[in-house]
Amino acid sequence: MNGFTTSILHSDRRLGTESGSVHKPIHPSAQYAFNQVEDLVAVFQGRPGFSYARQGTPTTAALEAKITQMEEGANTVTFATGMAALSAVFLTLLRKGDHLISSQYIFGNTNSLLGTLQNLGVEVTLVDATDIEQVKAARRPNTRMVFVESLANPGTHIADLDGIGDWCAEEKLLYVLDNTLSTPWLRPGKAFKAGLVVNSLSKHIGGHANALGGAVTDTGLFDWSAYPNIADVYRSGKPQGWGLTQIKKKGLRDMGATLSSDAAHRIAAGAETLALRMGRACDNALALARALSGHPRVARVTYPGLEQHPQHERANRLFGGRYGALMAVELNADVDLFAFMNRLQVFVLATHLGDNRSLMLPVAHTIYYEMGPELRAQMGISDNQLRVSVGIEDVEDLIHDFEQALA
Ligand SMILES: *Cc1c(COP(=O)(O)O)cnc(C)c1O
Repeated sequence: MNGFTTSILHSDRRLGTESGSVHKPIHPSAQYAFNQVEDLVAVFQGRPGFSYARQGTPTTAALEAKITQMEEGANTVTFATGMAALSAVFLTLLRKGDHLISSQYIFGNTNSLLGTLQNLGVEVTLVDATDIEQVKAARRPNTRMVFVESLANPGTHIADLDGIGDWCAEEKLLYVLDNTLSTPWLRPGKAFKAGLVVNSLSKHIGGHANALGGAVTDTGLFDWSAYPNIADVYRSGKPQGWGLTQIKKKGLRDMGATLSSDAAHRIAAGAETLALRMGRACDNALALARALSGHPRVARVTYPGLEQHPQHERANRLFGGRYGALMAVELNADVDLFAFMNRLQVFVLATHLGDNRSLMLPVAHTIYYEMGPELRAQMGISDNQLRVSVGIEDVEDLIHDFEQALA
C-alpha cells in the first residue's frame, strides 16, 4: 500500500484515465445515456453507474475515491457543502423519538442544525465529550447516535475520541465523527472506530478557499443490520453498504445538495497537497501559539499544542505531535481589539478556516453575536477573543504581523 500523498496523487490514473488525462475530467453533463435500455434500468436498480447528475458524476466519484482512501474507509458520498453532508447524516438516519448524544463543543451552525432536529422530534443531549463518563451517562434506550468533532471549532477541545469509539462499539451505537479540523491526514476517523466520518471539503482538504464541498465516509466498521432506521428497500446486499446507500438516496437524491463536477475538480486538485499544507500549517500554528503565549498584551492562547491546554496529553497520544491550525487568542482587556485587527497586514479579516492564508475573526462580535452577552459570558467567550486560522505563509511574517499590530 502506498502512503497518503502517493495514493491521492495517483488515484485518478489508477482508476482508469480518459484519453490519458492525469486529472479526472470535469463532467458537466446533467444526464448519462445508454445504448441498451437494460443498462439504464440496471443503474436505477443499484448497479454502479451514472444516471442523473444530482446523484453524482464521474468527477465527484473520483473525488469520493480519494476521500475514501484518506479516511481508509469503505465508501464516500460527496455533497455541496459540509453542512449538507451533516444534514444528510442526521436527517436520513434519525427519526422522531430517536435520541442523539452530541458534544457541546461543536461548530455553531451544527449546533443550530441540532435545534432543527429537535423541532422535528429528535431528542438531543449535549455533553462535555472530553469526559467519557458524561457521554455514557447520557445513554437512553432510544439513543441511536453519538456525534463529536475531532478537534472542536472554535474551542479546540479534544473529546475522548478513542474512548467514545470503544464504548460505541460495545453498545452498538453509531459513532459519527466530524473530522474537518484535524483532517484524515492527522488521523483517519476509522482509527477512533467511528462508523461515519464527515469532512467539510471547503476547509483544509480543498485548502484554497475556491470551492465548497462536504463528504460522508462509511468506515465499514458499523454493522448496519443492527440499525433500525434503514428502509427495507436498502436492506439488500452486504449490510456494510446499507447506511451510505440510504444517505445517498435520501440525502443526496431527494434533498439535492449535490457537489458540482467543477467544484469537485478544484477540491481534488487541492487535496493533492493536503499533507504538505497541513504539515506546514500545523508547524506555523505551534510556532505562533508559542510566540503569542509569552506576549505581555495577550491574556490567553488556547491551542492543543501548548502544555497548558487541558487535552494536550490526549492530543499528543491521538495525533502524534500535530495539533491542527486553529487557535483562540484573547488579548488583554485594555487592548482595543478592532484597532489591533485594522493594523494587520498579513492576516485576512475573514471567517472561514483551513485556508492557505491566515484568517482572523473577532468571535463575540461575529459567530457568537446572536447568542447575546449573558450566554457568551457563561461560555467563557470574552469580547477580546479572536479565532485564528493559521495558513502556510512564512511563519516569521505571521509572528511579526501580530507583534507589529500589538505594539
Ligand atoms: C466549516 C465546518 C463545517 C461546515 O462546512 P461547510 O463546507 O462550510 O458547510 C462543518 N463542521 C466543521 C467542524 C466546520 O469547521
